[in-house]
Amino acid sequence: MSRSANGADGRTAIVIGAGIVGVCCAVSLQRAGYAVTLIERDQPGMACSFGNAGNIGSSSFLPYSTPGIARRIPKMLMDKRGALKVRPGQFLKSLPWFVRFVRAGRADRVARIIEARRAILTRALDAYEPLLRDAGGRDVIQAKGKLMLFESEAAFQAVQRDLGARRDGGARVDVLSSDEVRQLQPGLSPSIVKGVFLPELSHCVNPLRLTRQLLAHFLARGGILQAAEVKGFAPRGDGPPRVMTDSGPCEASVVVLAAGVWSKALARQLGARVPVESQRGYHAMLAEPAVDIRIPLMANARNVLITPMEEGLRCTGIAEHAGVEAAPNYALTDLVLDHARALIPGLRTERVSRWMGQRPSTPDSLPVIGRSPRHPGVIFAFGHGHTGLTMGAITGKLVAELAAGGPTTIDVAPYRPDRF
Ligand SMILES: Cc1cc2nc3c(=O)[nH]c(=O)nc-3n(C[C@H](O)[C@H](O)[C@H](O)COP(=O)(O)OP(=O)(O)OC[C@H]3O[C@@H](n4cnc5c(N)ncnc54)[C@H](O)[C@@H]3O)c2cc1C
Repeated sequence: MSRSANGADGRTAIVIGAGIVGVCCAVSLQRAGYAVTLIERDQPGMACSFGNAGNIGSSSFLPYSTPGIARRIPKMLMDKRGALKVRPGQFLKSLPWFVRFVRAGRADRVARIIEARRAILTRALDAYEPLLRDAGGRDVIQAKGKLMLFESEAAFQAVQRDLGARRDGGARVDVLSSDEVRQLQPGLSPSIVKGVFLPELSHCVNPLRLTRQLLAHFLARGGILQAAEVKGFAPRGDGPPRVMTDSGPCEASVVVLAAGVWSKALARQLGARVPVESQRGYHAMLAEPAVDIRIPLMANARNVLITPMEEGLRCTGIAEHAGVEAAPNYALTDLVLDHARALIPGLRTERVSRWMGQRPSTPDSLPVIGRSPRHPGVIFAFGHGHTGLTMGAITGKLVAELAAGGPTTIDVAPYRPDRF
């Protein structure tokens, strides 16, 4: 059996999963004096955390389910060019999640969810600051703002709830004319009639580099990365259950479950039913886009995000329900590219790489952060859905505070695992 080397006062921690959330948890626990072992079955940072749109969504307060969603879902599903997809055979399996999703969209619940998202998102960028200060490579997150594009007045009106939530939460929202949009970002289609600039937002220019930088710092400070697959848990007299891996059991004074979409099955083994669903997203990465896009772009009506990154222009979109195991449908990246070309007519798409990642999505658009209901020595840190890159560092901070048993920076009650 492997035991972690002892940290301050003999405190040890195991973190399962080396995506951005797990790595941030590992770093934060290490900073709090724990000797940490991070267990990863694959390459760190190469699952969902690899190919996301890189947006630090500090003012994405509005959840994905809002009043009227029950009427909109069928329309969204019938739209061949729309982002929401459910594979045949997945409908019945995903139905309970969609029922919860619709319920989460009731006006009274949405108000509470906005408040809970605001509490965590407004602290998200600051939480990366100390980690990147110590690890180096702060330039991986850049403050260029974000530009929302609209091709009709109706498309602009459709985001008023989103803009209202941002404004109410204290974010700056600048409405731009079509000329102002083109001055800010040349090369856009004449079809764009209006824009909204969110000047305070930042984005990550290389999500994999972000994870790797933090991981390298963690390892340099004595953290352990164990290449193994967690298979389950075994009871232990005191403390959290033993973690059973394909290379043997291990134990620690705190266990953190941060395995993204795969956390659901592991949480189930710990007696917790958490409705996390895989929402697959796709990206097309353009190595030579031929148009100089300087600001992250978003077109809500097309459900695409276009982000300038170190290695090219990344076009992302799609929320596909197909379960965890199904093969990717890379044809969906063509749809993303069609939308991107419509917004940026000069876009060159010959040199393209395609990717699929599984967002660990909860029906109420809130992450799962808190102690396992049956095994308080295990802390859950998953279910970040569309904003997991954003929430990585603040989640790590909250997990370290929970592990220490002290007060947390924000009230974590809205994220508790047994809220469903
Ligand atoms: C197209 C797309 C665009 C997105 N855009 C944004 C964005 O702009 N901004 C934003 O904030 N978020 C965005 N997201 C969401 C974000 O990428 C995710 O929420 C986030 O990456 C989840 O991180 P994670 O660490 O929880 O999971 P993952 O990155 O999936 O990591 C989980 C890790 O756990 C490991 N693991 C699983 N099971 C086991 C096991 N049994 N044993 C050992 N290891 C295990 C896996 O191998 C994996 O490495 C986007 C997602 C997609 C798909």
